[in-house]
Amino acid sequence: MDPDLDPSLPKTPLARLGTIIHQVVRDASRKGQSRIAPLVMARLADRTDSIASYAGPSGRLPLSQAIRRSVLLKRIGHAQKQYSEKFVGDSYRGSRGSSSPPRGPREAVDPLPSAGSLSLIEETLESSRLQLRGQVDRLDRDDSGNVEISDFKTGRLHDSEGSLHADHRLQLLGYGLLAREVGVVGLISLRLVGSDGEERFPFDAEAEEEVRDLLGTLIASIPRDESLPAEQLARVGPACRFCAFRPSCSRYVREAPALWASDEPPAWLPCDSWGRIERIESADPALCHLYILDEAGRLTSVRNVPSGLLPAGLQAGDRAVCFSLNPVPKLSRTRPDNFELIDPVHLAESAHGAKVFFEQTGVVGSDAAQ
Ligand code: SF4
Repeated sequence: MDPDLDPSLPKTPLARLGTIIHQVVRDASRKGQSRIAPLVMARLADRTDSIASYAGPSGRLPLSQAIRRSVLLKRIGHAQKQYSEKFVGDSYRGSRGSSSPPRGPREAVDPLPSAGSLSLIEETLESSRLQLRGQVDRLDRDDSGNVEISDFKTGRLHDSEGSLHADHRLQLLGYGLLAREVGVVGLISLRLVGSDGEERFPFDAEAEEEVRDLLGTLIASIPRDESLPAEQLARVGPACRFCAFRPSCSRYVREAPALWASDEPPAWLPCDSWGRIERIESADPALCHLYILDEAGRLTSVRNVPSGLLPAGLQAGDRAVCFSLNPVPKLSRTRPDNFELIDPVHLAESAHGAKVFFEQTGVVGSDAAQ
């Protein structure tokens, strides 16, 4: 199934916005600028996004129009608030209220000063014993030696079911473990701030045991100085939803169809579909609908595919392979069997991060919305 061209999925407009915000934050913090919202808007102005050929003759759309306006403003407002909290000491509202001004980003890895309150920004913590390294967004220690570690996300902390993303929690537990390793002896509390709120949890004995066990398992399964096939290491699970390498992950491609057809498909299952084309219908001169008998034996549809993406001679019996589609209706995330690539009425709500390619009988063609 591996496409010949770039096997990874294109970045979504929101992911690209996150990258821009991150770059602006780094630059602004170095220059001591306090307002990042206008800087983000200025950088967005000259970026475009592609949603295949349907977006216009050039196939490109201003990035600011590829994100719903209300979402764009909310994300930028949220980034400004986080920036103020993270980098501008006076407005920091953390629970520990450190008295010393925050220290800026450091490149070097060195032990924490042994005593006293401090606030560190983008601090690198490293343990060679654990083969673990991470950069915390903000670390505050009070006079008693208790530490709060904050991590700021540009996106949401919770999935559509309201559960905290497991990888966010795990990342924070890793920071907690690193803090212990570099000499923190007081209480450690972990704090996640996202566009949908804030979560706090302690790095207590139970959390420490959990993350040490997990790390031990990982280290044992990936021996140092040895190469293992990716197939052996890959584990299909919630991380697949955000993994850009699904099109080239043989393990995911092999196991996903059984999950599509299972009695209780997991909520994290990505909106992907592949199988034999049953028929192709024209929706209008520029768009068509594909009906696909997927590899779980379900008849599925992928609507509003730009006709320009279809290779010449594509016909029933050929294969269509589609990743990161929109479910139809848009809120039906669990076991969707109807999908959409373009939303012609609200272009900003199209499946911008999608990749679609075809395998014709005797001919392999590839194309993508990227
Ligand atoms: S198993 Fe999932 S997360 Fe791991 S490489 Fe494959 S697609 Fe990505």
